[in-house]
Amino acid sequence: MPELPEVETVRRGLAPSMEGAVIARATVNRPDLRWPFPERMAERLTGARVLMLRRRSKYILADLDTGETLLIHLGMSGRMTVSGDPLGQFVHDHPAQEKHDHVILDMENGARVTFNDPRRFGAMDLLSTAEAETHALLASLGPEPLGNAFDEDYLVARLKNRRAPIKSALLDQHIVAGLGNIYVCETLFRGGVSPRRKAANLSAPRIRALVPIIREVLSDAIEAGGSSLRDFRQADGELGYFQHRFDVYGREGAPCHRAGCGGTIARITQSGRSSFYCPQCQR
Ligand SMILES: [Zn+2]
Repeated sequence: MPELPEVETVRRGLAPSMEGAVIARATVNRPDLRWPFPERMAERLTGARVLMLRRRSKYILADLDTGETLLIHLGMSGRMTVSGDPLGQFVHDHPAQEKHDHVILDMENGARVTFNDPRRFGAMDLLSTAEAETHALLASLGPEPLGNAFDEDYLVARLKNRRAPIKSALLDQHIVAGLGNIYVCETLFRGGVSPRRKAANLSAPRIRALVPIIREVLSDAIEAGGSSLRDFRQADGELGYFQHRFDVYGREGAPCHRAGCGGTIARITQSGRSSFYCPQCQR
């Protein structure tokens, strides 16, 4: 499932083809994904100029000159591809249409943006730009982990009375937006904090230390995504999935990466999701 760094990588990959460009034609091949598409979506998109491509949590937001914003969520299996980009960054011919190509945006500049989603957990919506922050999917989100509103004092205050495990607290989108399972596991490893520890039982200094680690873990992954865009040679023009080295995620049974630890990465299930951690050095 794409997490914040993957979504940010998709946003950066789409920007050269979409920002400032007019959508010459929008093609919508089915009535819905996870939810029904908004009424007359193709008509409302056709002819609109994309003013800015933003990201909020795991949502990509394309502000249009029509006063509306196109919200894009990749869900579990959503993929975006760019073909025919005229700027020379992504020189892929338009591929033959595939079965799960649900929405296609042909830009006036010759680029084609395709949203493909076999499992259809993704979503697209059109909302008033002025009221974007109050959209049901965005209104209750906590601050962006890479933004200024998310800082040490904030996190200490939000975790003070939380009896839930720290793992669950950091996954709570009301506390911080866009952190997912992979990067919470990696954050807790770097912080030396057990995912089982109750948030309220963590000392303030240990909580404070997690804030720069969260930023670092996400920034490292975004950087890896950026490299994947720079070496963009994938045959199909797909954006956002890249190779990244994890310390604990997906490494059950493997040796701990921390120098001198000698522990073995374990996997436990918390709230129905896998937590990977080193029981030896994460306390
Ligand atoms: Zn260890």
